[in-house]
Amino acid sequence: MKYKDIIEKMTLEEKAALCVGDNYWSSKGYEKYGIPKITMSDGPHGLRVQKEKADNLGINKSEVSICFPSLSSVGNSWNRKIAYKLGMCLAQEAKSEDVNIILGPAINIKRTPLCGRNFEYISEDPYLTGILGSEYVKGMQAQGVGACVKHYAVNNQENRRRTIDVIIDERTLREIYLKAFELIINNAKPWSIMAAYNRVNGKYCTENKHLLDDILRKEWKYNGIVISDWGGENDRVSGIEVGQELEMPGGRGNGVQEIINAVKCGKIQEECLDEIVDRIIDVAKKTNKYIENNCDANNNHYTYDKQLHHNIAQEIAEDSIVLLKNENNILPIKNKKVAIIGDFAKNPRYQGAGSSTINPYKLENAYDYIKEICKTLNMNNDNERIKNKELINENNEQYNIQYAKGYERDVENDSKELLEESIKIAKESEVVLIFAGLTENYESEGIDRNTLELPANQNELINEICKVNKNVVIVLSHGSVITMPWKNKVKGIITGYLGGEAGAKAMANCLFGIVNPSGKLAESYPERLEDTPCYHYYPGTELTVEYKETIYVGYRYYDKVKTNIAFPFGFGLSYTKFEYSKLDITKNDSLVHLCFSIKNVGNTKGKEIAQIYVKQDNSIIYKPEKELKAFEKIELEPNEEKKVEITLDKSAFEYYNVETNKWSVEGGIYKILVGKSCEEIELEQEIKIDSNDSKITKTVSPKYYKGDIKNISDEEYEAILGKKVPNRHLKLKDITDENTIEQIKDTKVGNFLYENQMEKMNKLFKEQNVNKATKVMMDLQKPLKKFYEKKSSNYTKEMVDELLRIAKENDDNFENIEFVKEYISK
Ligand code: BGC
Repeated sequence: MKYKDIIEKMTLEEKAALCVGDNYWSSKGYEKYGIPKITMSDGPHGLRVQKEKADNLGINKSEVSICFPSLSSVGNSWNRKIAYKLGMCLAQEAKSEDVNIILGPAINIKRTPLCGRNFEYISEDPYLTGILGSEYVKGMQAQGVGACVKHYAVNNQENRRRTIDVIIDERTLREIYLKAFELIINNAKPWSIMAAYNRVNGKYCTENKHLLDDILRKEWKYNGIVISDWGGENDRVSGIEVGQELEMPGGRGNGVQEIINAVKCGKIQEECLDEIVDRIIDVAKKTNKYIENNCDANNNHYTYDKQLHHNIAQEIAEDSIVLLKNENNILPIKNKKVAIIGDFAKNPRYQGAGSSTINPYKLENAYDYIKEICKTLNMNNDNERIKNKELINENNEQYNIQYAKGYERDVENDSKELLEESIKIAKESEVVLIFAGLTENYESEGIDRNTLELPANQNELINEICKVNKNVVIVLSHGSVITMPWKNKVKGIITGYLGGEAGAKAMANCLFGIVNPSGKLAESYPERLEDTPCYHYYPGTELTVEYKETIYVGYRYYDKVKTNIAFPFGFGLSYTKFEYSKLDITKNDSLVHLCFSIKNVGNTKGKEIAQIYVKQDNSIIYKPEKELKAFEKIELEPNEEKKVEITLDKSAFEYYNVETNKWSVEGGIYKILVGKSCEEIELEQEIKIDSNDSKITKTVSPKYYKGDIKNISDEEYEAILGKKVPNRHLKLKDITDENTIEQIKDTKVGNFLYENQMEKMNKLFKEQNVNKATKVMMDLQKPLKKFYEKKSSNYTKEMVDELLRIAKENDDNFENIEFVKEYISK
C-alpha cells in the first residue's frame, strides 16, 4: 500500500465515506489527511460542467465549452494524433474548471447500429477503438487530468441498460468487447474506469467479480479506480467485495453505513477496504497535482484559448469527414450556381443527446460559411480578371447560392410548400447540396433507434430533387449507420457524422476542395437492418440479451458470409488517388515486419489510411474472414511516394483460448492483407506462423465455422457458452424492487404507468425536448428501488412495496396509491 501511513490514521467511517460520492460530481476529500476530493465531469467530446442543478442526461444547464466532434466522427479519422489532441484539449478545458477526471473516452463496441449511443462510441472494431482510445487517454493524462474509460463492459444497447443481463461467451467477451479496454489499459494506463449499468452473465458490472477482480485487477494488473456509472450501483457491499472503488453520484441512501456494517460483521475484511481506499487516495492525489500549479505568475487561474480550441475542433472534424460517393468528380464543387437545401445547412445537427450534451462556444453553420467561401472565390476571380485586364461584368460568372429549408425536423409538421420551394431552386441550379441526416430525436443516450432510415420527409425530398436535377450531393449529419435508398440516384455523398460546433465549416471546406476529405468509415453500412448479425438476438427479452452471433460483429460477419453491403468498414474516398506497391514482409522471432509503399497518383495533396488485416484460412478455430491488426494514416503531395513500415507482434495472430483461459496462437499459414478498406485489398502475402500453444481444439457447432449465425439453437449456443441459457422471462411472482415499471407493464398498474409515461415521452419528442424525453424512458427502465434510495426522493420503500403488491395482485384499484399519485404528478 502506498498510503499506509494515512490510512492507519483514518477511522472506519472516514474510509467508508471515501468510497461513496460526496455530491453529484465529486468524491469526498479530507484536508486533515491531505486527501483532496476528485471532481468529475462528462465527457467524452466536450466538458459538461454543471455549477447549478446537476443531472446525468444533459437536461440542466452546463458551462460553455467547446463541442468537439463526437467520438463516432473521431473514429472515422483513424488518426492517432487527432485523438491525442482531443484528449489534450479536453484536459486543458478541465483545468480551467478545476475538474480532475473527465468521463471519457466512451469505447463500447457497436454491436447493433440501432444503439442510441453509438454516436459516442468509436467503432465496431476493438483494435481501432483501442488504439484511438489509448491516444485520447494519453493526451488527456499528459496534462495531469484523469480519464475515465467507459462503460466497462458490454454496454452495447441503451434499451433496458439499467437491468439487462448480457449473456455472452468468454471468447467473444475477450476478443470483441473487452479488447479495447485491455489495449487502453496496457498502452495508456487510464486512472479510472467506469463500471457500466448492465449485468454480464448474471452479475451487475458494478459487482461483477469476473470483470472487476479476475480480469481487470488480477489479469490486467489495473491499479486505477473503478467508478460506478451514475446511479449504477446495485449493492455497495458487493461492489466493495470485488474491488469497485467509488460509487457515484453521492446522494443515494446508505452506502457508507452499509460498508461500515459489512466491515463490522466481518463480511468485508478491513484490509480489503484499505486497499480500495489506497487506490482512491492515489488517484485523488494524482489528479489534483496540477491544481497546485493552476495559476500563472500573476496568480491568474488557468484558462484556455477558446478560439484556438474551436479551431482544433474544426481540424478534428476535417480529418474525420468521409466521402462516400463522388461520381464524375462532382465534388469538389466546380459549378457556380449552387442550391443549398435542408434545415441542417442553417441549423446544424452537430451532437447527440444525453450526458454528453455540450453547451457550445460558437456554433458554425454551413450556409453562412459557404457564402463566405463563395464571396472570397468571387473576389479572387475578379482580381484575376482585373490582372488579366478583362472586364469584370462581361461573361463573368459569379458563384450564386440559393437556399431552401427543404424539410421540417418534426416530420409531422412538414409542408408541401417546403418541397415545392426546394424543387424550384433545384431546377434553377447546376448543383444541389442537400443537407440531410438524423434529427435530434433519433439519437440519444437511454433510447435505441428502431430503424436505420432517415426521416421519411427527407428521403422523399431527396427523391423528388433527383427528378429535377442530375447533380445532387447529399451532405450528411448523423451519429451512426443509416440506410440510403437514394444512393444510386445521387452523384455525391459525404458525411461528417456529428462534427461538433465547427463541423459545418469543416464540411464546407471539404465541399469546396479547401480540404481533401480523408476519413474512412469506422463501421460497416449494411443495406438493410435485417442484415445485421445480431438482428435476431437484439434487444433480447425483458431480462436478458444473448450474444449468439458471438465474434461476428460488423465486418467480421459481412465479410465472412459475403453479404452485399452499402459501404464496407474502412471505406472512404479522396479527391486524389493512391497506389500501393512493393509489399515486403520479414520475420524475426515472433515479430512480423511489413514494408510497402503508397504513392499519390492524383494531382491533389491528400491523406490515405492503409489498413492491415490478418487472415487464416481453414483454421481449427472458427474465425472471422479477416481482422484489422494495424493501420497508418499518411499525407502525400501529388506524385509523392512514401514507405510505410509496420510491425505486427504475436497479438496480431492470437485468439482467446477457452480451453486454457489464455490468448493462443494457432500455428499455420496466414495472409497479411494491405487494403484501402476491408473490401479493397491492394497487396497480400502469405507467411507461416509457428506456435507451441496447446489445446487448440475445434468447437462443436459447424454453423459458427461458416458464420451462419442467424439461427443458432439454444443447444448450439450452450456448447459455446459452457452453461445453460438462463431464464428469459420474468414471472410476476418473482418481481422485486430490482425490477422496473417496464418489466411490470403487463400488469394493470404497470400498464397504466407505462402508457402514461409513453404519452409524456412522445409529447416531449414532439417538442424536440430530447433530453427530457430520455429521462422519462430512463424512469420506466430504472430499478424500482432507485426511486426510494435517492436521499432527496419523495418516494419511500413502503410506496414501492405497495406498488409491487398491487402489481402482483393485478388489482384495478391503483389510482390512489401513493406511488402512482407521485409518479404521474411529475
Ligand atoms: C452515463 C455516463 C455519464 C454519467 C454522468 C450516465 O447516464 O451513462 O456515460 O458519464 O451519466 O453524466
